[in-house]
Amino acid sequence: MSFSLHGIAVSSGIAIGHAHLLSHTSLEVLHYVLPKPLIVEEIARFDAALLATRNEFSNLRSNPPQYAAAEFDAFLELHQMILDDPLLSVAPREMIEAEHCNAEWALKTQTEKLVAQFDEFEDAYLRERQTDVTQVAERLLKQLLGQPGHQPSPNRHDVDTILVAHDLSPADLMQFKPQQYAAFITDVGGATSHTAIVARSLNTPCVVGFHHARELINEDDLLILDGEQGVIIVNPDKAILAEYKLRQSELDLDRKKLKRLRGAKANTLDGSVIELHANIEKPEDMVEVKENGATGIGLFRSEFLFLNRDVLPDEEEQFIAYKAVAEGMDGQPVTIRTFDLGADKQIKGAERVANNPALGLRAIRLCLAEPQLFRTQLRALLRSTHYGNVKILVPMLSGAAEINQTLQFIAVTKQALDDEGIPYDRDVKIGGMIEIPAAALALNVFAKKLDFLSIGTNDLIQYTLAIDRTDEEVAHLYDPLHPAVLHLLSHVISTANKLDVPVSVCGEMAGELAYTRLFLGMGLRQFSMSSSQVPAIKQRVLTTSLTEIAAITQKILRADDPLKIRELLDKLNA
Ligand code: PEP
Ligand code: MG
Repeated sequence: MSFSLHGIAVSSGIAIGHAHLLSHTSLEVLHYVLPKPLIVEEIARFDAALLATRNEFSNLRSNPPQYAAAEFDAFLELHQMILDDPLLSVAPREMIEAEHCNAEWALKTQTEKLVAQFDEFEDAYLRERQTDVTQVAERLLKQLLGQPGHQPSPNRHDVDTILVAHDLSPADLMQFKPQQYAAFITDVGGATSHTAIVARSLNTPCVVGFHHARELINEDDLLILDGEQGVIIVNPDKAILAEYKLRQSELDLDRKKLKRLRGAKANTLDGSVIELHANIEKPEDMVEVKENGATGIGLFRSEFLFLNRDVLPDEEEQFIAYKAVAEGMDGQPVTIRTFDLGADKQIKGAERVANNPALGLRAIRLCLAEPQLFRTQLRALLRSTHYGNVKILVPMLSGAAEINQTLQFIAVTKQALDDEGIPYDRDVKIGGMIEIPAAALALNVFAKKLDFLSIGTNDLIQYTLAIDRTDEEVAHLYDPLHPAVLHLLSHVISTANKLDVPVSVCGEMAGELAYTRLFLGMGLRQFSMSSSQVPAIKQRVLTTSLTEIAAITQKILRADDPLKIRELLDKLNA
């Protein structure tokens, strides 16, 4: 039967492929039935994985990592208790014995039961512990996958596969190559979640927030995913399939045509020079940056170097990564952000449990709370400045005290490098992200103390409108055109211009065609976005006259009726 589902469009493009369902845990689990003689062996494999996970916890508790947070031990103790819960340690054995299924499947099924029990708790704290259950199950699952069983090789081509998951963390997606899968579908997530951002940088269509996609879609169902409209069509009929195949090839052609603009300068019709930079998550993304003709890196989210690993990157490893990007850009600007860990991007083994992760120890707050980690990164960053046009960007600053502390850290690190005779750019520019309303409103102090500013619209909108950007339940409230958001954006851009402090926008809004002229009208001259968006935004810049858009932009900024704002925006983009 054919039917369609609607979600939140987060990464554009049309994908056609077969569904592959992922289990609740972020690791892929296959289900298969084992012949009777192999059951004893399978149970032994489960027991061995259980023992190895127990040992892993004991070792971690007796040798906590240097960067471990104060609550690390209590956190591990909780995880040990969860591991010993009969639903995780005993029930999977019984299921293997009764149903002759593989250990991974038994573990996944029992984990989901345990997660469902936590879901029932009225107490919010207890309810949130389901994340811990999932994390413990993932550890155990990894041990299992490291002990090869009788896994059949999945007979599928990834490029034809659309992954359907309850959730995919940014760290999960980081393990995939660009276009390794045809598309991603998740039950949860918001438009500017880091999962969405990574999907875009993988150039893979993605729709999130379906709520029950995993229950409604079956393994191997044929799917069409429209990443522009946020729609999936399950088991489409022949006519619909043919129509989407045609649209898919038209889109491919448009994209190829746009790429011809690669070498062109992004000037407006009246000759203003606009800088279009790229956002990257890892050095390998440089290929896309070059292909799409970005003239600099406006945001290197360095924290992605820290995900998916048991041992954090040391100074040398970080230095090599930053230097590679600096050299790769041949003197063009490379803005590297100090790690924005915490919230939805956690260091493995030192995950923090916070009531409101987005409002907790995240980004610069975490850096200042973990001086050793921060110093190591600053050393690597400063050393890389010797090899290109590197600038350092600090995320989530809220006020003068944090700026001062950060600058002090940088000064001390510079002194240490001087003492050791290690070269670095003495005039390295230090910038701050404007992504907390307080920073936007108290901009003067930022402009005075920092060399440049970069507006993170994803967080600025999240914090201005008080909506968790990862939560699909409130995703409908995410509104870049809310008058309060427009007011803050316009205020930051005009104040920075007046004070002659370079300002750019590096949040997802910068890569959305609908807002290009609006930003240009506000006075923005530097944008940073996912590489794949650069050609389309360049084309919009090339067809824009700053003189013509001035009056209508002012009207938009004065309007307070959402419908009127949208109507004016349509006129601006006509
Ligand atoms: C932002 O908040 O807009 C931003 C660019 O940073 P991130 O998306 O990594 O939080
Ligand atoms: Mg941000």
